[in-house]
Amino acid sequence: MRVTSVYIHIPFCRRKCNYCDFASTALYGHEQELAAYPTWLRQELALYQPKLDLSHLETIYFGGGTPSLLTPQQVAEILSWFPPAGEITLEANPETVEGQRLHDYRQAGINRLSLGIQSFQPALLSAMGRGHSAAQAKAAVAAARQAGLENINLDLIYGLPAQTLAMWQEDLTQALALESEHISLYGLTLHEGTPWGDDPMIHAADQDLSADMLELAIDRLAAAGYRHYEIANFARPGFASRHNCAYWQRENYLGLGVAAASCLAERRFANHPTLAAYAAALAAGKRPVAEEETLTIDQVLAEAMFLGLRLEKGVVAKEFYRRYGADPLRRYHRELARMQKLGLLETDDGVIRLTRRGLLLGNEVFAEFL
Ligand code: SF4
Repeated sequence: MRVTSVYIHIPFCRRKCNYCDFASTALYGHEQELAAYPTWLRQELALYQPKLDLSHLETIYFGGGTPSLLTPQQVAEILSWFPPAGEITLEANPETVEGQRLHDYRQAGINRLSLGIQSFQPALLSAMGRGHSAAQAKAAVAAARQAGLENINLDLIYGLPAQTLAMWQEDLTQALALESEHISLYGLTLHEGTPWGDDPMIHAADQDLSADMLELAIDRLAAAGYRHYEIANFARPGFASRHNCAYWQRENYLGLGVAAASCLAERRFANHPTLAAYAAALAAGKRPVAEEETLTIDQVLAEAMFLGLRLEKGVVAKEFYRRYGADPLRRYHRELARMQKLGLLETDDGVIRLTRRGLLLGNEVFAEFL
């Protein structure tokens, strides 16, 4: 089976942020595991290599956690296992990168950098438990440019406790001044088991304020020349994330590392979420998979709908039919009619798309197809 994208999860961070429920561990005391991690990844890849065709790889994505805790030498070693891919992304936190390191990542093959900026407000950064300042974030962008990185994403968060619309406006202004090629926006969700999620005094912004923040961002980023190509993602022309588009278009991708998820046609599987279980499975010569399912055709179609609707392009009925043998306009006519009546969806010339209101209430639309 041909795989066009590989995701590599690096489950270590210098310290845990207060809102974070991603699979990552504070590095202190786990330095040896970080050093051993490429060896485990190599073992895991070897379990797939006889069966999967990786010769047409288009994207490789180091996500986390904080992948910039890997040394450039480790990144180069990992990339040496794969054929060259057009887009190779490394997620990084601003405090973990400086000029020489970024230069060395570039030399290792990284050509897209995704920086976890989140906010430029000192009070919000400190409340989130982020390990960097606004000045470090700006310095990281400047250093990345100097290192020759021409494709940079900035992650920002909205809907934070105590975040006002004026603060968000200022964050957008400062992000736009950095002239990155791509900006991703995340609406805060509180998760049980995190310091914020377990603190009854912490509340995310209410739904109305969050929607106002997203609307403000949509307008400002559009005015600055960014295309809103996916619900949470904005790019200058030609800089949409090819890797993430592979997810939304249901292309085959292989996930390696702790908690990494894979999609191979109708098969879905996800790795063990802890380092110990992941390493133990590999030591026993087994795939470190914790959950695996084969989707029914109904599930495949539903997934194609709610993932496709995330994209500005929408779901093109003819393409959908060609790929899945079903006409979405007929198959989902009841759901589509209901969503159209609520002003959340529109259909035009065989294309189904979210309206602007639908963009703000995307989860309600997607739930229709589950
Ligand atoms: S740096 Fe990212 S992955 Fe690590 S703890 Fe913070 S939010 Fe989570």
